[in-house]
Amino acid sequence: MTTHPAADLRTRFIFDDQPVRGLHVHLQHVWQHIVQRKHYPAVIQSALGELLAAGALLSSNLKLPGKLILQIQGQGDLKMLVAETDSNHSCRATARWNEQARLDDGRSLTELLGENAIFGITLQPNEGEPWQGIVPLEGSSIAAMLTAYMRRSEQLDTHITLAASEHAVGGLLLQRLPEKQIDADAWAHYTTLADTLTAQELLSLDAQHLLYRLFHETPPRVFEPEALEFACTCSRGKVSDMLLLLGGQEVGGIVAEQGSIAIDCDFCGEKYVFDDTDIQALFGMEIEAMIGQQLQ
Ligand SMILES: [Zn+2]
Repeated sequence: MTTHPAADLRTRFIFDDQPVRGLHVHLQHVWQHIVQRKHYPAVIQSALGELLAAGALLSSNLKLPGKLILQIQGQGDLKMLVAETDSNHSCRATARWNEQARLDDGRSLTELLGENAIFGITLQPNEGEPWQGIVPLEGSSIAAMLTAYMRRSEQLDTHITLAASEHAVGGLLLQRLPEKQIDADAWAHYTTLADTLTAQELLSLDAQHLLYRLFHETPPRVFEPEALEFACTCSRGKVSDMLLLLGGQEVGGIVAEQGSIAIDCDFCGEKYVFDDTDIQALFGMEIEAMIGQQLQ
């Protein structure tokens, strides 16, 4: 029994007669949580939704407790897309862009990202050092970027199909299992079938119907679905650490000028406000003199 909405599920499946496994994901409430917090331009919204679906698919392979972060950094009007999913099935995602620019002018994702954009995957275990792989961005869609990344970084054949609308995101991943050989024709058969999926099917079908639609001739073994949910990992403690990194000079200057410093979480919109008393407690005595001096 699950109390989670049936709309936010990740489902693993495996073909018994071929070394191919797969994952399906469909997120509705999680995605609503994200899109309702910011007014995303259409191109950014759909790229972010696809990145979220991709993160939800790939995080299924996390070996240790921790999180998987997919990040795209651009040099154009689109600065950053980031999607995180952790081993507790929590997801969050956000984007940063030039809010002064008009982005509904028909420019593609590639144009918005500009030259020298990069694609990165970070595995951040709860304990121990993070692992990060960064490659130059290739491809014009999130699925193509991920496929290019996979091709560069590992030998496993992986096929990803993604879709996003303002209401839901969906994705299907097929992966060739490393242990056994598969003939090229069989792998091509699966990926060709996956390519017949329409965005509408990815956005509206649950795993059962989607897998039947694709593979009813050789049905895979389907595992119990896992529920995913939106959750943010921001905290006052983490914002405090960030302020300490910024340094007393900068933070003290802002507090002296504005009376307090306010930091909004990019992912969930939570507002963290630190007044001069909080800042003095954070930095200790030396900042007190500085704030005092600037006030005079
Ligand atoms: Zn947050």
